[in-house]
Amino acid sequence: MADTSFDIIIIGSGPGGYVTAIRAAQLGFKTAIVEREYLGGICLNWGCIPTKALLRSAEIYHYMQHAKDYGLKADNVGFDAAAIVKRSRGVASRMNTGISYLMKKNKVSVIWGEAAIDAPGKLTVKAGKSEAPKGALGPGAYQAKHIIIATGARPRVLPGLEPDKKLVWTYFEAMVPEKLPKSLLVIGSGAIGIEFASFYRTLGSEVTVVEVLPQILPVEDAEIQTFARKAFEKQGMKILTGAKVTKLDKKTDSVTATIDDGKGGTQSITVERVIAAVGVVGNIEGLGLEKLGVKTERGGTIAVDGTGKTSVPGIYAIGDVAGPPMLAHKAEHEGVVCVEAIKGLHPHAMNKSLIPGCTYCFPQIASVGLTEQAAKDKKLDIRVGKFPFVGNGKAVALGEDQGLIKVIFDKKTGALLGAHMVGAEVTELIQGYVVAMNLETTEEELMHTIFPHPTLSEMMKEAVLDAYGRVLNM
Ligand SMILES: Cc1cc2nc3c(=O)[nH]c(=O)nc-3n(C[C@H](O)[C@H](O)[C@H](O)COP(=O)(O)OP(=O)(O)OC[C@H]3O[C@@H](n4cnc5c(N)ncnc54)[C@H](O)[C@@H]3O)c2cc1C
Repeated sequence: MADTSFDIIIIGSGPGGYVTAIRAAQLGFKTAIVEREYLGGICLNWGCIPTKALLRSAEIYHYMQHAKDYGLKADNVGFDAAAIVKRSRGVASRMNTGISYLMKKNKVSVIWGEAAIDAPGKLTVKAGKSEAPKGALGPGAYQAKHIIIATGARPRVLPGLEPDKKLVWTYFEAMVPEKLPKSLLVIGSGAIGIEFASFYRTLGSEVTVVEVLPQILPVEDAEIQTFARKAFEKQGMKILTGAKVTKLDKKTDSVTATIDDGKGGTQSITVERVIAAVGVVGNIEGLGLEKLGVKTERGGTIAVDGTGKTSVPGIYAIGDVAGPPMLAHKAEHEGVVCVEAIKGLHPHAMNKSLIPGCTYCFPQIASVGLTEQAAKDKKLDIRVGKFPFVGNGKAVALGEDQGLIKVIFDKKTGALLGAHMVGAEVTELIQGYVVAMNLETTEEELMHTIFPHPTLSEMMKEAVLDAYGRVLNM
């Protein structure tokens, strides 16, 4: 008879779920993970990873078009959209297979199907939405002392902007276009909207981005937003901010969008395809949460404390379904904290101000900590340092001299409060500053950090020096 009783069962096998399962098994818990559709969740199958594969193709295409700038020859540069998509799907499928292997290696049982919680400690699993992987347990009743919900999120749907899979896409359809649309409207300018806008624009689509807020990339520092916007507009992207798409009229192979410009006027544009990227909502439905009394938040997420505990003992939540920021590394970390707390290891509770965010568009954007405005809103006395890429040897050598780095310090304590950057390779560069913030590194310590020459980190040092008023502001 198949085993149905576990110490920990995790519902959902995205980056939150599978990392939690591995850590739980390492800590000696008898662990199972339930998945209804695809191992690896949104991140590996329809999110982070396949988009990065698409963006890599676009990036190489861009460099091939500029081969001459580097003393190289590349004639008849072109692309095959189907092959780009095929490569991206291949990357996703390879990662998905990797999760199967990791579960087996760590002795985590995979239960294939859709889970609902009947009572603390008790679950029922119904048939899944796709074929079960080899060796998975099937539908039925299961028991676990601890149940961790890691069911992730799905695209938010706004009235009047409902996706139809054909003309109005979500990220699912945008990831696998049959052909490149000549014109594209992207509604929403968060990381998902901007990454797709950047991918399609680089490959030649006429792209318009409409954002209801006053600036694109709403969570970023104002100067980074402005810098990025100018760069995108220079590439030919049309950007409308403080504007709202109010209506979509669909024809056979085009959509006419009515846009309220926020100043009392309207305009309409006709495009081949629309991507609705207006955020995501947590997958809280069908889990039995209401009946169990699990407290949820507005915006479709589950209320948790700093270690994933919900309002009902024995039931926990992590990842996108436990609230923003909805990022894979946040989901993974939350899961580790959750099982270590169950084990009694007293991990640090999650500090949300130390979670970095990256947008892998061209130019890249990366940030961690407080923006200048957020620091001012907190009435902090700050020192700000900035350094443009034009002055950095590595950036100039890369042929990528357009970028900006900005650091925010507490004037009194010298504590690093935030780092914000736009430009080539900044999604790698941010990592050092995440560590610096976690180690509570001060301005003084950063200023005396020695970076190898030439690197982009050197530029970060220049920004620190700038903030300190030494060398640059002398
Ligand atoms: C286009 C796109 C690009 C992104 N890029 C990045 C990026 O570059 N970096 C980054 O950090 N984040 C990125 N994200 C966000 C990232 O994908 C999510 O933050 C991450 O996937 C959340 O992980 P999770 O484990 O909470 O949930 P998910 O990855 O959503 O996984 C949840 C899983 O639970 C399963 N499930 C749901 N309900 C049930 C049920 N009742 N029973 C059984 N199984 C169930 C689902 O099928 C799914 O597999 C991106 C997202 C998108 C859409």
